Amino acid sequence: MKIICIGRNYIDHAKELNHEVPTEPVFFIKPETAIPIGKLPFFYPDFSMEIHYEAELVLRVCRLGKNISEKFAMSYIDAISVGIDFTARDIQRKLSEKGLPWEAAKAFDGSAPVGHFKLFEDMELEKGINFHFELNGKTVQKANSKEMIFSFEQIIAHVSKYVTLKQGDYIFTGTPAGVGPVNIGDKLTAFLEGDKVLQVSVK
Ligand code: ZN
Repeated sequence: MKIICIGRNYIDHAKELNHEVPTEPVFFIKPETAIPIGKLPFFYPDFSMEIHYEAELVLRVCRLGKNISEKFAMSYIDAISVGIDFTARDIQRKLSEKGLPWEAAKAFDGSAPVGHFKLFEDMELEKGINFHFELNGKTVQKANSKEMIFSFEQIIAHVSKYVTLKQGDYIFTGTPAGVGPVNIGDKLTAFLEGDKVLQVSVK
């Protein structure tokens, strides 16, 4: 399985990192080893001094697809949750300045915890999907899927032009504004439509 991540999908987050607003989705991939094993905490890696949280809606792929049209895109995902795209911001900055790939900053072990999934069939999609993220009990990120620059359908259509989606793949859909550093001892909690779906402690 693989984890596809969309970058810069909320205008306010693109602005906070001084990025241009993209005209098509930017994506990158994390390997399966980015999913933490069992219920282990997030261990702060020794190669970075600046690990940031990025809370994101995560889509679960339910069948094989390539060159998927927007019209049929929703039939390729069956569930949604919230995950954290942990990012070594200091490394990412250095690599970006040199125009190099980001993997060392994004794809490291344990960098993609994902919460419990809710089935789309149990949700109302018309009003968009709300999620929020708490750092030590304080809300630091909050958004609705309707605020995304690229919709779920546009993301699936774009990515599947290049990469075949397979059952069990995850798609991280980008983070809203409010990203920031984590420290050892922090408690991170993600909510989907007000329900707690993920809790991670930083060790
Ligand atoms: Zn992200």
